[in-house]
Amino acid sequence: MQNIDWGSLPFGYYPTNYNIRCYYRNGEWGELECCSETTINIHMAATCLHYGQEAFEGLKAHRGADGKVRIFRLDENAKRLQSSCDGICMPRFPMEKFEEAIIKCVQLNKEFIPTYESGASLYLRPLIIGTGARVGVKPADEYLFLVFATPVGPYFKGGFMANPYVITRKYDRSAPLGTGVYKVGGNYAASLRAHVEACHGGQYACEFYLDAKEKKYIDEAGAANFFGVKNNTYITPQSTSILPSITNKSLMQIAETLGMKVERRPVAEEELATFEEAGACGTAAVISPISRIDDPETGKSYTFGDGKPGPWCEKLYKKLRGIQTGTEPDEFGWNTFVEI
Ligand SMILES: *Cc1c(COP(=O)(O)O)cnc(C)c1O
Repeated sequence: MQNIDWGSLPFGYYPTNYNIRCYYRNGEWGELECCSETTINIHMAATCLHYGQEAFEGLKAHRGADGKVRIFRLDENAKRLQSSCDGICMPRFPMEKFEEAIIKCVQLNKEFIPTYESGASLYLRPLIIGTGARVGVKPADEYLFLVFATPVGPYFKGGFMANPYVITRKYDRSAPLGTGVYKVGGNYAASLRAHVEACHGGQYACEFYLDAKEKKYIDEAGAANFFGVKNNTYITPQSTSILPSITNKSLMQIAETLGMKVERRPVAEEELATFEEAGACGTAAVISPISRIDDPETGKSYTFGDGKPGPWCEKLYKKLRGIQTGTEPDEFGWNTFVEI
């Protein structure tokens, strides 16, 4: 175990021992390789550098209250990466290879898995980049898969907290038939300016996107899906331009077991006024409760509850965190145990 103050780590890069790599050459993926280098050497004409041929994932390994190490919904991340590969013309990375790479990466960096008490976890960042040289626009013929691990601090250092968000009407993250449903770097390049302008004043936690076509419906926050709660119902947008969050998918299942109704459908902006609670969800925070959403260009503002996380957000958060850390039964079989 490393002597690190786990509880005060930010959500940032902290150096670890090893990363796992795999190369696609001559039409096939090679063997997994363990590597201690943190740099990669690629051709200056690689497609990832010019045409954004890059997809990534984000998942966590948790040390449980029982000392065991669990990775949450590994198979879902493997599947989503394959879908992202399809979306930007990259060869699919095999499911079993993905799972093996993630488990290996956790095992080789085991002294960086934070303690249960700290609330921190080991974040895993797999990615695939086009490394083949091209000048014309065309998919690469060579690719690199890589996964690294880095310990990240608890998202809510001062306890579970609600934050204000802001709707951005000036920029779109993704088009209705674009790449919003894929976890690709290009979507983030497209969102950086909106993010910086909306959030770097320090007033808001994150920018919030409406559908690009009509600017009428709620899409999602910069890197997290949206859900609202009213009348014991969990409501989350259906849209062709949002990323299918695994956290959101899990919360929908948990909501039903907690006795809520679940609706996945278009959510018009005006409906925000009717929600009792609202939250953003994703791997980093699980749930980030939303205290308020401002729409500065129309002057509208929607407030949820009394500025504190609502009771449903609290219940959903506790249940999901509990499953991830072994204090709640894993009734859906979501965890993969790692021998360390
Ligand atoms: C990764 C991501 C999410 C959250 O997905 P999880 O699988 O829950 O971590 C939400 N929105 C976007 C745009 C993302 O890239």
